[in-house]
Amino acid sequence: LASRLFQPEDTVIDVDGFKIGGGHIAIMAGPCAVESEEQLMTIAHAVKKEGAQFLRGGAFKPRTSPYSFQGMQEEGLKLLKKAKEATGMPIVTEVMCQDTFDVVEEYADILQIGARNMQNFPLLKRAGKSNKPILLKRGMSATLEELLMSAEYIMSEGNLNVILCERGIRTFETYTRNTLDISAVPAIKELSHLPIIIDPSHAAGRWSMVEPLSKASIAVGADGLIIEVHHQPELAVSDGAQSLKPSKFAHLMRSIEKIAKI
Ligand code: PEP
Ligand code: MN
Repeated sequence: LASRLFQPEDTVIDVDGFKIGGGHIAIMAGPCAVESEEQLMTIAHAVKKEGAQFLRGGAFKPRTSPYSFQGMQEEGLKLLKKAKEATGMPIVTEVMCQDTFDVVEEYADILQIGARNMQNFPLLKRAGKSNKPILLKRGMSATLEELLMSAEYIMSEGNLNVILCERGIRTFETYTRNTLDISAVPAIKELSHLPIIIDPSHAAGRWSMVEPLSKASIAVGADGLIIEVHHQPELAVSDGAQSLKPSKFAHLMRSIEKIAKI
């Protein structure tokens, strides 16, 4: 179902009138994690002002350590809903497991399945029963074939609205958090009609590299970007080092607008 041979035309996904795929570039921006109402509202208004169409923010966070902040959970989802009401931006947020699927589905406009869950097959099947688009992130050590097979799990259950996301893969390089596989974009374009966006924040792990990688992503034909933004990155509870301040995000937007129409 995900194959270009099965469907030659690009899939275009429409969320509240904002389109993703087929030449429509989607910019999703916001904090790694929802931390408070004040934090979320500040960032939501800032990214909207600079041209982001979607607000990202984790309420359920997959953390490497069980002792790290796990997210505001349903409280966080309520804040995301509030931010949507205030800005008109549809919400992208991660769903981590089947137990919490229904509640996340109720609040989110796009459900994110994280890199660590790319091959959580029961979760993928549940996502396939949803009527919300799924943002499927590539696993840190997954091949493109495996990514497409995971999309197939969702689609074969009836949900054809899958957005793929390249977020960097594990290699021997340690300077960056992950290695951005820029070739994933043209490769997926050959293999599949599904939209593919890039997450330069988790790929780089360093804010200073987010703008150059975003420019490369747009130049190579990505259907969008998902970017972490925080007004006080040094105080962020997660992923501060890779989060852009709103002024840096504004600069990024102006430079990608020179490459393609956003
Ligand atoms: C995130 O988007 O904050 C996240 C945890 O991403 P990934 O699943 O790509 O690590
Ligand atoms: Mn993050």
